[in-house]
Amino acid sequence: MPQKKKIAVLGGGPSALAAVYWLTSTQALRDRYDITVYQMGWRLGGKGASGRGAHGRILEHGLHILFGFYQNFFFMMRHAYGELRRPEGHPLRTWRHAFHPGGVGIEEEYVQGAWDPWVIVFPRNTAVPGSGGALPGLFQYLAMFVQGVVTLLFGWRIGYALTSRYYASGKDWEQGIDPPLGGAEPWTTVVLFKLIAGLMTALTWVARFINRYVPWVMDALTAVRQFIWLFLLRLARMNRRSHRFWLDLDAIFAILRGIITDGLMLPGGFKAIDDLDFRVWLLRHGLHHDTLGTTLVRTIYDAAFSYENGDPDRQRVSAGATVKVLMRWAATYKGATYFRMQAGMGDTVFTPIYQVLKDRGVKFAFFHKVEALHLSPDGKRIASISVNQQAALKKGLSEYHPLQTIKGLECWPADPLYEQIDKPDAIRGIDLESYYSGQMGKPVTLTEGVHFDEVLFGIPIGAVRYVCAELVDNDATPQWRAMIDNVKSVQTVAAQLWVKKPLDQLGWQTPQPLLSLFVEPFNTWSDMSQLIDREDWPPEVELGNISYYTGAQLGPTDPPPLGDRGFQEQMDQNALETFETFLEGRAHNPARDPAVGGITTLWPKAAEPKDPKVLDWSLLVDTKDESGKARLATQYLRSNCGPSERCTLSLPGTNQFRMKAGETGYENLVVTGDWTDNNLYLAFMEASFQAGILSARAVAGEDFPIIGEWLNG
Ligand SMILES: Cc1cc2nc3c(=O)[nH]c(=O)nc-3n(C[C@H](O)[C@H](O)[C@H](O)COP(=O)(O)OP(=O)(O)OC[C@H]3O[C@@H](n4cnc5c(N)ncnc54)[C@H](O)[C@@H]3O)c2cc1C
Repeated sequence: MPQKKKIAVLGGGPSALAAVYWLTSTQALRDRYDITVYQMGWRLGGKGASGRGAHGRILEHGLHILFGFYQNFFFMMRHAYGELRRPEGHPLRTWRHAFHPGGVGIEEEYVQGAWDPWVIVFPRNTAVPGSGGALPGLFQYLAMFVQGVVTLLFGWRIGYALTSRYYASGKDWEQGIDPPLGGAEPWTTVVLFKLIAGLMTALTWVARFINRYVPWVMDALTAVRQFIWLFLLRLARMNRRSHRFWLDLDAIFAILRGIITDGLMLPGGFKAIDDLDFRVWLLRHGLHHDTLGTTLVRTIYDAAFSYENGDPDRQRVSAGATVKVLMRWAATYKGATYFRMQAGMGDTVFTPIYQVLKDRGVKFAFFHKVEALHLSPDGKRIASISVNQQAALKKGLSEYHPLQTIKGLECWPADPLYEQIDKPDAIRGIDLESYYSGQMGKPVTLTEGVHFDEVLFGIPIGAVRYVCAELVDNDATPQWRAMIDNVKSVQTVAAQLWVKKPLDQLGWQTPQPLLSLFVEPFNTWSDMSQLIDREDWPPEVELGNISYYTGAQLGPTDPPPLGDRGFQEQMDQNALETFETFLEGRAHNPARDPAVGGITTLWPKAAEPKDPKVLDWSLLVDTKDESGKARLATQYLRSNCGPSERCTLSLPGTNQFRMKAGETGYENLVVTGDWTDNNLYLAFMEASFQAGILSARAVAGEDFPIIGEWLNG
């Protein structure tokens, strides 16, 4: 047998795991590579990691929703569940058990002193993510159009009844039959798509011709459009709903005009507008000033945590990245616009991936925190890697077994499984995933030729300045310095509540909501009550609702030096204070002044009888039965402020500085992550998975497929 090539994978987040999945996808590849994943702490998943706490409670890094256009994500998940062949009766036997379609979106708007929720029912289709290329069929587009029109004309209740009647959900969804994985999109849709793209391109040339030779025609068209808008808006203002509708239509027109006049359909079109903020770009294309504040425009900033420094007054996101993702989100989803996980993200996504990779022979070195990459004397290769081995295993154990079983499901615990650790008291209570916890255990050096031949670096951008300091300081590879100076990240905050009563009894009126644009920093809320049965509460505990909240957190542009041990504590305290104001109904919204509100705005029946703004604390589930605000201690709140936890941003003008997987300047180093040049440029699972595939290509030189790559522009 020829020697296998040793690959050290640094970090076990979604991108790195997707890369390893592809690098082990055939027997020939498995014969070629000997792969070890080095992961700090006790679990995989990174910003998607979750853990089980007391009573099997699911504790997430933050709210995660999976969008229906994540073709590469769903392809891999379907493949992984298929490869596992879980037995009948397993709680998450197939991918359909793990991910259920969602249907309702709510956008909050503060108008004339009150919050006004706009309920949107997203049309469904019968396409299955991960099958048949990136685009649904023509008939499916037609059905979605009809659903959209019905909802607009008759309201969300009728729209919801229609989609629920014709499209499977819950147990029926789980029984659905899957078409084969992969395959190409229906030729009819491709023809239609190409016709539209061709038409847009032709219009681009026409617009360019007019701009050059008869510019007054453009000015006249703009004037006519503005006149019509003024007239329509005046009419529409008489009715709030129609006002919002026209504003959104105005935004859609501005986007279309921008696509045409800026030639986004031409090669490199999206990149050409990367230096502009999305709102600035829309204004350039005739967006009415009123429309800047409309939900369609604002929602992308919240969804991608696009607040520089976490500051709601500094919302900025690349126009190129945004338009591309909006088009993918709106026009290429399969099944449903979004899907909810039916257990923790760790349980639904990272357990199956871990189990498949283990079966394929991949090794996992948990409790290995990478500290620094070191260069060879000629500065061309990674010669060694300093690692802090945070904990050693008990004698007799050759590897760490990271999963525990709760109600028949293999889950990641919220803490290390100390019974497998030698001298567990040395690490008990220390956050092994934090960069501010300092060193523990012992230092270890991984050496080229002994422990690895090639390095696949999957550690987030926020940590690159620390872990890759030698590379950043190397004048021969200036792209590293340029990257960390430009590609930024942001702190986030996440909260979870376990509440005694179901939503309708708290005063909320729609089916399972996914809501955004609410008060800062908890501007996004999803009901997650589907998880009640997945957790393991004693039967006497009254539990009617589980809710997750998230948003960006105000903080520094870059994480402070690692010696700043008080930083995490300070940010946790800030998170707690803002969460309290949220629960007391006095969260203030600087960017949407004078909006004030909080949980009782959403749940009016959950208010304290004496004060209709403040949450009735006794509604929070607390097995210790504390009184008042003390019950908050048993809920879950976290500030994701450390280098590894911050969310990657796509600030205008910065995506050109992202590194391509194989263009690191070092012969044996490939990078992966949502911060790399992965063609999508917003931080989400699909971008991470595409980054993974691109890095697997760079390692193996194989053309692993990316579904919808032809749409990436
Ligand atoms: C609060 C929040 C909510 C989000 N919600 C959504 C959502 O709803 N939908 C969606 O699609 N996306 C969402 N995202 C984005 C998504 O989570 C990320 O895009 C994705 O996790 C990035 O994957 P990655 O592999 O690039 O990095 P990461 O997930 O950060 O993984 C990096 C890995 O490296 C490990 N690591 C770091 N440093 C070291 C070290 N020194 N040594 C060893 N290991 C190390 C980490 O522990 C981790 O396992 C959300 C992100 C956040 C922060």
